[in-house]
Amino acid sequence: MDFSSFNFEPALQEGLDAMGFEQPTPIQEKSIPVILQNKDLIACAQTGTGKTAAFILPVLNKICQSGSSSLNTLILAPTRELAIQIDQQIQGFAYFLGISSIPVYGGGDGVVWEQQKRALVTGAEIVVATPGRLIALLAGGKIDLKSLKHLILDEADRMMDMGFSDDILKIVNYLPKNRQTILFSATMPPKIRQFSMKILNQPEEISI
Ligand code: AMP
Repeated sequence: MDFSSFNFEPALQEGLDAMGFEQPTPIQEKSIPVILQNKDLIACAQTGTGKTAAFILPVLNKICQSGSSSLNTLILAPTRELAIQIDQQIQGFAYFLGISSIPVYGGGDGVVWEQQKRALVTGAEIVVATPGRLIALLAGGKIDLKSLKHLILDEADRMMDMGFSDDILKIVNYLPKNRQTILFSATMPPKIRQFSMKILNQPEEISI
């Protein structure tokens, strides 16, 4: 199987070619069709399996097809390093698509904070955020997620271990109910399953 079987938009396929991606990994092969069908998804996959592209590619394709140029996708990640890494992969794939993303994370100095707030005002379709910093933006009215279409939680088990469960539930309260929610986790203990029942709607399940 190669990526052409997903019938991605030509500009996205161009991005894949430019990044040197030829064949989908197993998690990509299983996740991409489910996400393209707008279903909620719980996927169990470790780092190094291609999990990031497994959610980025179908979401970019859907944003491209919708023609939406407002903020419609939120990706939550446990750490600043991971948020930056996801943002960079998005920028690589989205080069030919005219879709942009903004990383929002804590721990930077005041200059970074100001840059992030300014970037949100100029607009992007995708925000990649750590939960704590996003809460601060939401509480300050700096970001409007009312028309969000896709919520993605990456490394959900790590976010829970770091104590972000309540922050995530608070964030979800700011989101519309009719959205697509996708949860990726390296492990799938019962607490992740219970948590996912609170924020996902009849999800498909995939593990590799
Ligand atoms: P991840 O599991 O998302 O951290 O990805 C691990 C690495 O594999 C990253 O450097 C990706 O750019 C790369 N990668 C992911 N999917 C593919 C693919 N289908 N073909 C080639 N490289 C890939």
